[in-house]
Amino acid sequence: MNRTYDVVVIGGGIIGMATANYLSQNNIKLAVIERKYIGSGSTGRCIGGIRQQFSTPAAIRLMQENLELFAQMDEEFQTSVEFHRGGYLFLAHNKQMVDVFKKNIEIQKKEKVNVSLLTPEEVEKVVPGINTDGLLAGAYCPDDAQAFPFPILNGYREKISGRNGEFFLDNPVLDIKKEKHFLLTLKDGSTLEVAKVLLSAGPWTGELAKKLGLDLPLFPERHEAVITERIPQFFEPMVVDYRADGCYFHQLISGQVIACYTPVPNVPGIREDVSFEFLPQVAWRMSRLVPALKKASILRNWSGSYTMTPDGNPIVDESEIEGLYIASGMSGHGFMFGPAIGKHLAHFITSGQWGADLSEFSIDREFKSKENMK
Ligand SMILES: Cc1cc2nc3c(=O)[nH]c(=O)nc-3n(C[C@H](O)[C@H](O)[C@H](O)COP(=O)(O)OP(=O)(O)OC[C@H]3O[C@@H](n4cnc5c(N)ncnc54)[C@H](O)[C@@H]3O)c2cc1C
Repeated sequence: MNRTYDVVVIGGGIIGMATANYLSQNNIKLAVIERKYIGSGSTGRCIGGIRQQFSTPAAIRLMQENLELFAQMDEEFQTSVEFHRGGYLFLAHNKQMVDVFKKNIEIQKKEKVNVSLLTPEEVEKVVPGINTDGLLAGAYCPDDAQAFPFPILNGYREKISGRNGEFFLDNPVLDIKKEKHFLLTLKDGSTLEVAKVLLSAGPWTGELAKKLGLDLPLFPERHEAVITERIPQFFEPMVVDYRADGCYFHQLISGQVIACYTPVPNVPGIREDVSFEFLPQVAWRMSRLVPALKKASILRNWSGSYTMTPDGNPIVDESEIEGLYIASGMSGHGFMFGPAIGKHLAHFITSGQWGADLSEFSIDREFKSKENMK
């Protein structure tokens, strides 16, 4: 006999877990299905940056709400999620980027973001010893932040279980069909009959949607990351060097420096392997910008996926198949977007109404405008 649910969330990353957390506040029969373990996808591989410095009012407002949600989590989950307002510092080494920063800052200030354009001398005060050769300006918001994904996922998991939400772990959905209800077949052979399904399977969302005949503009690509051993704390913000051979990194409150860069050209596909070139490249890029980092020893490296869309914004919406919701295409922002997207999506799934304007993320938009702070 099929087990029946009101809502099933496919994917135990930040998006699925945040949405399931808010869904579980309603009196519904709910399950989360995860291919491996909670956080095994992109979420457990991200570097934890949280910022308001986006280019559209809707994304900025969503991030302001997210910052509030992250700031409450230590109390909500009764544990440290390592939330820390270390700020974000974007660097411009060409005039075009300075103009992008100026335009964004105008929009961000209208939304009351505490952001300013810094001179190279002011940048040096924020990151002591930074190499300012060729640097023209920095866009700096000290209220942006960082947090650690695993205690957050675990906090959501405890809340969901405590409200009788069920988990199927290490048990991927192998097939989905839509008859009167959705019929899900899991790897262990169980079949679930479900009224509403959320596809929040990160980079795997496109493959699952295809089983229902949907072709979504989702393009996973590999991003590698590295963490160093602990070194004495000497800078606070996430530093984002926007040069084609730049990188982004911040120092955790434990002293380790965690870093990534966006490869050019990108590396398409769902891949969790690491390349030979990444480690020497990231070490060179970081220490070119902050020479003191030459002293930091590398602890380990790994990779995960960004799931891209043509405009760099996610898809968060009900699909043309009634009762099938999509939340994916989070690019490099899914961790920071997650809590508020989860809150609003859960409300939409249960009530049919959006509690916030997420129309920029609608499934039938034209995907023409671009988020320029990717
Ligand atoms: C190196 C790196 C650094 C990043 N840094 C940041 C950052 O600083 N800030 C930020 O906001 N974002 C960052 N990101 C992006 C962020 O990690 C993602 O946008 C976010 O985690 C996406 O969350 P998700 O829930 O959509 O997907 P995921 O976390 O990938 O979760 C999807 C889950 O679905 C499961 N799944 C897949 N198929 C099935 C199936 N058939 N059945 C059941 N379950 C299934 C997977 O196992 C996975 O656990 C980074 C990403 C990487 C790779």
